[in-house]
Amino acid sequence: MILSLPFFFSLTHLVCHTCFKRHEKLHRCGQCKFAHYCDRTCQKDAWVNHKSECSAIKKHGKAPNENIRLAARIMWRIDREGGGLTEGCFVSIDSLQNHVEHFGEEEKKELRIDLESFLEFWPSESKQFGMQYISHILGVQINCNGFTLSDQRGLQAVGVGIFPNLCLVNHDCWPNCTVIFNNGNHEAVRSLFHTQMRIELRALGKISVGEELTVSYIDFLNVTEDRRQQLKKQYYFDCTCEHCQKGIKDDLKLAAKEGEEKPSQDVVKDIIQLSKDTLEKIDKARSEGSYHEVVKLKLYHPNNAQLGMALMRAGVTHWHAGLIEAGHGMICKAYAILLVTHGPTHPITKDLEAMRIQSEMELRMFQQNEFMYYKMREAALQNQQIQILPEPTNEISPGIFQKKQ
Ligand SMILES: [Zn+2]
Ligand SMILES: [Zn+2]
Ligand SMILES: [Zn+2]
Repeated sequence: MILSLPFFFSLTHLVCHTCFKRHEKLHRCGQCKFAHYCDRTCQKDAWVNHKSECSAIKKHGKAPNENIRLAARIMWRIDREGGGLTEGCFVSIDSLQNHVEHFGEEEKKELRIDLESFLEFWPSESKQFGMQYISHILGVQINCNGFTLSDQRGLQAVGVGIFPNLCLVNHDCWPNCTVIFNNGNHEAVRSLFHTQMRIELRALGKISVGEELTVSYIDFLNVTEDRRQQLKKQYYFDCTCEHCQKGIKDDLKLAAKEGEEKPSQDVVKDIIQLSKDTLEKIDKARSEGSYHEVVKLKLYHPNNAQLGMALMRAGVTHWHAGLIEAGHGMICKAYAILLVTHGPTHPITKDLEAMRIQSEMELRMFQQNEFMYYKMREAALQNQQIQILPEPTNEISPGIFQKKQ
């Protein structure tokens, strides 16, 4: 259950406040001039949550930062629906842990500043909450319960939300589930394909009856010691998961860090070679990026969402650089992962599916007639500069070839 979806400040003019899609021309809310939407549909969807915020921003003269806006939206919602359990909600916002008593000096200071800004922003005509309660909501946010939301393509963090149900799922550095933000399909109004924005908890593999569901709160790419420190600092617990207790994969990470013994799996080797080959074609920073993707291959859970996204980016980069075999291979691998981590209906998986089909077509052409493939590619490149982007674009393919029946 989503309690709120405000945006990081710098992006408020660039991304739709309802569906998080990037748009050239967003429509601005005529009242507060702060909220931006794709169209009327997105604006209507947002109104129930934006209404009180809209007049508060207007009155305040400007929008406060995302923490304050999130807290305010939560409290307006509590005023509308109550702070207890609503349908589909297993944990109430009131019962979330705020860990305020564990806060260090810096966090206490942060809380004080937020509290001040909140009180300045909160309108006198809205329901008044006690200081203790406001501190609880802000504390919950500063603490571990906020979740970063990404844009439609999953490439950029654009907002924050609080999802109380997720607090039921404990951490494991090698988890059996993943949390995926699905932006939903807002365009298909009143059709079967219209879906709400939601958070999904997805299994990474078979889970036996009675086995605890776990997610990872942090990136596994750090060694055990660093992970444990981070978990203690941010989430106030000592991780006792199997990977932490046994230090699993630490040796590999240290080797990769020092740049000596690189992971030696065949796949990994191939990709390193290809990355080197690509070096002259794509800019240096991006190739270095690809090298890091290689390291990730060996270290992550085979069905890790970040790994899937990294493979997708690397695949597209290779494809755009003309390395169709490698590119298509990576796109297929990424697709297999995203089917699990994001599910077949997620917009990113759908994008990737289209890219998989297109690159497969090009690969077939390449295999049938390599000479022609390069000729056509050359011709296409002369006519039009193909963009070498690290991420997939809105278009289905880089448009090198036209579909021919
Ligand atoms: Zn929208
Ligand atoms: Zn407004
Ligand atoms: Zn652990």
